[in-house]
Amino acid sequence: MELYIHIPFCRRKCRYCDFASYAGREGHIPAYVDQVIAEAALRAAELGPQPVETVYLGGGTPSLLPPAELQRLLQGVFRFFPPENGAEFTSEANPGTLTPAWLETASALGLNRLSLGMQAAQPELLALLGRIHTPEQVALSVRLAREAGIENLSLDLMFGLPGQTLPQWRETLRAALGLGPRHLSCYGLIPEEGTPLKADLDAGRLSLPEEETERAMYDEALTLLASEGFAQYEISNFARPGFACRHNLGYWRRVPYLGLGASAASFLLLAGRETRQTNPPGLAAYADTAARGEPRETETIRPEDARFETMMLGLRLNEGVSEADFLRRHGVPLDSVYGEKLRDQAARGLVEKAGDAWRLTRRGMDIQNSVLVELMDG
Ligand code: SF4
Repeated sequence: MELYIHIPFCRRKCRYCDFASYAGREGHIPAYVDQVIAEAALRAAELGPQPVETVYLGGGTPSLLPPAELQRLLQGVFRFFPPENGAEFTSEANPGTLTPAWLETASALGLNRLSLGMQAAQPELLALLGRIHTPEQVALSVRLAREAGIENLSLDLMFGLPGQTLPQWRETLRAALGLGPRHLSCYGLIPEEGTPLKADLDAGRLSLPEEETERAMYDEALTLLASEGFAQYEISNFARPGFACRHNLGYWRRVPYLGLGASAASFLLLAGRETRQTNPPGLAAYADTAARGEPRETETIRPEDARFETMMLGLRLNEGVSEADFLRRHGVPLDSVYGEKLRDQAARGLVEKAGDAWRLTRRGMDIQNSVLVELMDG
């Protein structure tokens, strides 16, 4: 099992962000830490305490936790769900908030991987996104992480931003590579309803690059990162050999995970049935329900939905969906459920067979949603 802990605090809300994170609520951190520890104890009573293969602190901004609260949180949760020997332990961090004290505390508690939100190399694009940091602070955070002994660094980058040009994206990729990460995530901007950035786009105050430019940006990432020794292992993720994110690979391969904290989702085998559970996103709602052991939103996944999830998540991966794995997991041959549709999509150059696995082609990646909708209809 994998473990995810959500830290829903941010210093300021980025203009494109619709994640469960709250600005200016740092005063709630001690109470929130108590609640997450209480939730861990309740979950251990339900599921049995057990070691976990990976730990992921996500947010929000985990690097906003004062070191003493970070220590209290991790010691409290690890009493029930300790990382097993050799576990990957990642935290997300925002360059404007990372301190040597936080890094030393996290490292002493086993943190061995850091994912930094760099996003862009240009101050004007960072300002447009409402990020709180400068490009210099990204470089400083990388240096501080290395000084704390954390060498396994990942950088998040964004393309398809309003006003962003192809040369600027190239400059961002080169700047990121210059910092020597072992892993890079490159996400195309998706303007989310209800965010200030989406309001600016809708009102015509900002505009997105042409689709063709956005595609060229993605191609640039594929080409440049491959030439620098980064293998693409998922639509948006690239790693040096041996440094793919084990925790996220677990999501895509449908490994069970326990999510603690506001808005956190869990995917568990309960009484032999695949079950998804979701905590409420608001701080007050979380305190009133999940942290007190009230029933959380629970969905038992029907076999046909489980099969589709295997395709939906597995096709994001370059390794694709293996027929042998599919049969082992679902008890029916992949070919009997999706074979006809996949062969039709292969004839149109959208998917291909590699060994015993089906995977998206480069063209299929561009229109992965349509590929999946067709499979769903099947
Ligand atoms: S730092 Fe991350 S979680 Fe926080 S507001 Fe920005 S994008 Fe959202």
